[in-house]
Amino acid sequence: MSFTLHGIGVSGGIAIGHAHLVSNARTEVNHYVVPPHQVPEESARFDAAIRAVRAEFDELRAHVPEGAPAEFTAFIDLHRMILNDTMLAVEPRRIIEREQCNAEWAVKVQMDALVDQFDTIEDSYLRERSADVVQVVERILKALSGTPGYVPPPDGDPDQELILVARDLSPADVVQFKQRDFASFITDVGGVTSHTAIVARSLNIPSIVALHHARELIREREIVIVDGTLGVVIVDPDPRVLSEYQERRRRFDAGRQQLKRLRDTRAVTLDGVEVELHANIELPEDVEQALENGATGIGLFRSEFLFLNRSDLPDEEEQFEAYRKVVRAMRGMPVTIRTYDLGADKQTEDEQRLPTNPALGLRAIRLCLTEPQRFLIQLRALLRASRYGKIKILIPMLASASEIEQTQQLIARARASLDDDGTPYDRDVMIGSMIEVPAAALALDVFLRKLDFLSIGTNDLIQYTLAIDRTDEAVAHLYDPLHPAILKLLSMVIGSANKAGIPIALCGEMAGDVTLTRLLLAFGLRNFSMHSAHLPDVKQCIINTDTSKLIRTARQMLRADDPMKLLGLLARLNR
Ligand code: PEP
Ligand code: MG
Repeated sequence: MSFTLHGIGVSGGIAIGHAHLVSNARTEVNHYVVPPHQVPEESARFDAAIRAVRAEFDELRAHVPEGAPAEFTAFIDLHRMILNDTMLAVEPRRIIEREQCNAEWAVKVQMDALVDQFDTIEDSYLRERSADVVQVVERILKALSGTPGYVPPPDGDPDQELILVARDLSPADVVQFKQRDFASFITDVGGVTSHTAIVARSLNIPSIVALHHARELIREREIVIVDGTLGVVIVDPDPRVLSEYQERRRRFDAGRQQLKRLRDTRAVTLDGVEVELHANIELPEDVEQALENGATGIGLFRSEFLFLNRSDLPDEEEQFEAYRKVVRAMRGMPVTIRTYDLGADKQTEDEQRLPTNPALGLRAIRLCLTEPQRFLIQLRALLRASRYGKIKILIPMLASASEIEQTQQLIARARASLDDDGTPYDRDVMIGSMIEVPAAALALDVFLRKLDFLSIGTNDLIQYTLAIDRTDEAVAHLYDPLHPAILKLLSMVIGSANKAGIPIALCGEMAGDVTLTRLLLAFGLRNFSMHSAHLPDVKQCIINTDTSKLIRTARQMLRADDPMKLLGLLARLNR
């Protein structure tokens, strides 16, 4: 039966394909449909696994080693209790019967639901018990792996397009999907500027977040249409709708190809204002797409992605090679590399501690300043690579003069250590700061005095100014780049930097939103950095704009505070 789901489109375009359901990639479990006559056998397999784990616990309990701490017994009892709860011992069987799926999948789905419930518990002790649930589930999965299950038929047509359907994906998961070919992906949770959405955008495939129940409602292999522009998913469409969308997809793709022809056209407005259009990248391989779309520099290389999906840390040599690869590929064009912005929603695998409020915790430069040895490795690698092109070093989340000074001291230490080794580097390498904490925007003078360039990170600036967690879909509707507070901050920061003669760019998602291009031009922005896919659209807008005709309306927007009026003025600007 056909039905429609609505979410937040984070990357435009249309995809049509077969659904492929996954759990979080980290604990990925295969999912397949079990034919009706095999369901009783699959249920029996699940029951056998539960019995096996129960026996394991009984065995452990009966042979507690002498001198073992008292917690050991309590721990086994707790796990036995979790195992015997109907939520784990019975509910997965119902899922197997209802969804006709394999036992592993049923157990995993139930685990995700339980972990979600634990996450909402206020009491931190009880909340942490979700880790115990995961451990018990791991035992069940292990027991299942020892019992032969139903073997699904081989995948059908290898050319078939796949739509990835997940409850949630971390930025680290999404970056892994860069290596696989999916036509689209859709998730139940997530906000527009979450890093998951940002990486999705960089894949240049239609994607939607905040669908709430997609993974529950969509079945493996079902035909799905994803309209990333409207944020709509149509499941099991009827033939008329399907052919209508096939035609729309053809038109959308043709339009994109058309725009790519602008690749070598300079971004100059009708009144002769030159604009730099740079690309945001996550990994060195993304440079190719940046060049294809006509980027004249890399405005943001989110270097922290080099640290994800691995159990060790990249050493100086590995980082140096990655940075040098990007600089060389850009052949003399500027490459702005941001020092790692770990913490918040991008944790390395060795990170044990989960802060209560990660976005306000030890993130980005704060983390670097508490672990100077790790930071120095990156600084040395960056400086060494600066010899091969035009590297600019960008520091995330700086908020105060003292953080700027401490960072500069560490950079001086990295330089001195290279001098001691006799290793060459570019002595004029520019050091800049992200402006993404409201405190930095409001106390900009010190940033203008002490740094060589600035880049506005509107994703975080909006998150922190409007107090909305960018990863939380429950507040995603409050994300508002046109909020009067944001407009004032942006116009003030861009104006002050221009006046002081300090280069300023904007590298948050606002830079790639073509409906805001003229507004930002009117505020005086001349350097935009965005995901490559947006470059042609934004360039097209720039070459059709006369900046002298924008000023009056932009000033009116700065004085307005009624959302409808602001939207009306924006529409006038874009006419
Ligand atoms: C931003 O905050 O706008 C930004 C570009 O950085 P990130 O999205 O990586 O936090
Ligand atoms: Mg940021």
